[in-house]
Amino acid sequence: MSPRTPVDTIIAAARWLDARGWMPATAGNCSLRIDPRTILITVSGAAKGALTRQDVMQIDDTCKPLDSDRAPSAEAALHASLYRLDPRIGAVVHTHSVPATVLGLPAAANSWNWTGYEILKAFPGVRTHEAHVEIPVFANRQDMTALVNEIEARWKGPPFPGYVLGGHGSYAWGVDMDEAIRAIEALEFLAACELERRRIHP
Ligand SMILES: [Zn+2]
Repeated sequence: MSPRTPVDTIIAAARWLDARGWMPATAGNCSLRIDPRTILITVSGAAKGALTRQDVMQIDDTCKPLDSDRAPSAEAALHASLYRLDPRIGAVVHTHSVPATVLGLPAAANSWNWTGYEILKAFPGVRTHEAHVEIPVFANRQDMTALVNEIEARWKGPPFPGYVLGGHGSYAWGVDMDEAIRAIEALEFLAACELERRRIHP
């Protein structure tokens, strides 16, 4: 397998997610932790299907830019908070899909509880479709500090493999980019199933 740099990994991940329609209008973002205090993340406002190496930048764990005068993604604080919460997390991805956006409304803080779906086994540690997986749904906010505080408070409860921001999109993570992509793909697949199920059984 040819070696791939962390920047190339982010560019490839963003292209893959964009091709599924989950990164509309420059939305969404991807990051990798490259050392304990350094995060590689997509810059703000770049089309995710056509990123260049200049569209990926380093920030520290307080979101301070390290190697670029461009601004990191507007939601860099949410990525940084996940890396702080769990030192095993090596990659974070964020999408703006139609199913997750719609299902997260009305934007009252609540959660989705999924069971019975075979795809649940795509989440780390899940062995059977009979497992119960909870995905927290947080009301969307523009105040990143308030949102980070809310997510960090919820982290003290039962573990969850991703979360949704109502009317906004999804976050998922993993030890590396492959695991993060698998988690977001499972989350998006489940959101699409749930939307379809509600259409059939309103
Ligand atoms: Zn977003």
